Amino acid sequence: MSATGFTVDRRDIDFVLHEQLELTSSLKGYPRFQDFDRSLYDTLLDEAQKLAIEVTAPINREGDRVGAIFDGKGNVTAPPGMKEAYGQLIAGGWLALTAPAEWGGTGMPRSIGMAVSEMFTGANVSFSIYGGLTVAAANLLAHFGPEPYKDVAVRRLYAGTWSGTMCLTEAGAGTAVGDNRTRATATAEEGVYHLEGEKVFISGGDHDLTENILHVVLARTPGAPSGTKGLSIFLCPKFLFTPDGTLGERNGAVVTGIEEKMGIHGSPTCTLTLGTAKPCLAYLMGAEGQGMEIMFHMMNEARIGVGIQGLAGAAAAYNYALAYAKERIQGTDVAEMKDADAPRIPIVRHPDVRRMLMMQRVLVETMRSLLYTAAHRVDRASQMTDPAETEHLRGLLELMTPICKAHCSDVGFEVCRLAVQTFGGYGYVGEYPVEQCLRDQKIFSLYEGTNGVQAMDLLGRKMRKNGGALFMAWLQECNDELDRARGAFPTEVAAMEKARDSLGGAAMHLAGLGMQGNVHGAMLQASPFLSQFGTVVLGLHALWQARVAKTKLDQDPDGPDAAFYKGKMLNVKFYCANVLPQAMALGKGIVSGDDSALDPGLFV
Ligand SMILES: Cc1cc2nc3c(=O)[nH]c(=O)nc-3n(C[C@H](O)[C@H](O)[C@H](O)COP(=O)(O)OP(=O)(O)OC[C@H]3O[C@@H](n4cnc5c(N)ncnc54)[C@H](O)[C@@H]3O)c2cc1C
Repeated sequence: MSATGFTVDRRDIDFVLHEQLELTSSLKGYPRFQDFDRSLYDTLLDEAQKLAIEVTAPINREGDRVGAIFDGKGNVTAPPGMKEAYGQLIAGGWLALTAPAEWGGTGMPRSIGMAVSEMFTGANVSFSIYGGLTVAAANLLAHFGPEPYKDVAVRRLYAGTWSGTMCLTEAGAGTAVGDNRTRATATAEEGVYHLEGEKVFISGGDHDLTENILHVVLARTPGAPSGTKGLSIFLCPKFLFTPDGTLGERNGAVVTGIEEKMGIHGSPTCTLTLGTAKPCLAYLMGAEGQGMEIMFHMMNEARIGVGIQGLAGAAAAYNYALAYAKERIQGTDVAEMKDADAPRIPIVRHPDVRRMLMMQRVLVETMRSLLYTAAHRVDRASQMTDPAETEHLRGLLELMTPICKAHCSDVGFEVCRLAVQTFGGYGYVGEYPVEQCLRDQKIFSLYEGTNGVQAMDLLGRKMRKNGGALFMAWLQECNDELDRARGAFPTEVAAMEKARDSLGGAAMHLAGLGMQGNVHGAMLQASPFLSQFGTVVLGLHALWQARVAKTKLDQDPDGPDAAFYKGKMLNVKFYCANVLPQAMALGKGIVSGDDSALDPGLFV
């Protein structure tokens, strides 16, 4: 195996998109997608796969070793090879893949965008972050961009000649975004402000990949109320520009340092000072005080996007581990252990290695199913005309968003851990890629709202919304799937029913604590509850996939895909026997009422 043998599991991606979600037929009815067909989707995914394997994966390792470089004078240089790769990325129009035609985009469904993201991120996490943030900034500016700069800003971002950042965090305001102190003072010109303050941890705060960088910044105007209500949002360019896109002088947003960190070394994490060395001009987006409201506009998609990062890193690590396990010769078959001359075998034949590979496989494939389904729902919800149907779908999406973000980043990290373990000692050294996968992966549980915060969002907001209506809608969906699968998979459905009931019991217990006013007791269990919910949800996806596979297998039992479909049926068996019991265990812990961690005598 070569040190950069990055591969994409295209068969599984195609299975989810075309056999499970039936992408083409399910979207054909919407005017935006009516001209797209399978062959167009295939061509695009072929091209993305080629770019990921041939262009971005090969610069991943050097990007990690060299990292982004800060010159001490406000300028950051991206690692070697990135500029050329970025040129190819934007020449192919990849940043405008899902953007609407009026912005020069291809208007592709988000579901296809997710598959492309999985490929690009798996190939090179750091490289993909530059483009990901740029698209996020473009999406936000397309809705709330300040006039008369909006048009040129959005077009340049989707074209990729300019890039974007998101500037929320400050040293004293991480999770507590409402504690932001950056000041925004109105100038004599309407909509134009001076920013003063310091943002930290800003991904892509400076680099040499694009001719301009547009920072989207949260700041507080004088006299604004404290907390999130007092925050406004601004467009703050690195280089000032005219509405026709002509670049002017450098603005007073200057990088003063970059972080030394565990992973994603190719993505600079910058301290950005605003208005210190020289005035920093910025343009108000929306109205004063609308900062968080506007940010929330992109929050759900950004969080599902982090889930995809979790999947992508995990899928890459699993593919590396699988390829290595087939090649690495070590030991003899366990049944022949006493025979010193028994043939040496590849480690893929050892039961413990097979267990690790199977665990990685089911977790990756069920996460893929969950996340692509979420993207498919975004596609449908964005085009539906029936308000009740749209609300139903959006409700399910809202409920699943913290699970997509937190469960997939946690589970993705576990997959990377297992990938390193599969390699043995070689997994721990830089000669092979999985140690980088593990390091790069950790950030996904931390940014875009830590996983603890996601759990609080799930329990404190989503579960309570409309008197529990979102959870009830999900339960209905869960029961429908169990009914559809019962005939073919009675044992697995029975296991899923027990896990569902355990989840329902945990939800009721926590709601009860909430009603008694025991907020600490309830929130103590927020993360276990999210894990339990995520474990049940992935089980449901394993079941759905197996049901679809069985139908296909019954139609063509000896066909070329028979082994693939049988694999899906083994997945659900393995999941229900080996992963789902964790949901029951978590449920037991949640309803136990144990609150020893809250004892005031501890951690003093
Ligand atoms: C590599 C990297 C890239 C980043 N990129 C960006 C970026 O581009 N733009 C940007 O704005 N930010 C970015 N961030 C910042 C990131 O979003 C924050 O680090 C994150 O929001 C957490 O803030 P914090 O680090 O201050 O941790 P804290 O908020 O101090 O949290 C520490 C711990 O306490 C917990 N905690 C905090 N408050 C609560 C609470 N109320 N209830 C329960 N638990 C709580 C957290 O879950 C966590 O476990 C980046 C960070 C890193 C490391």
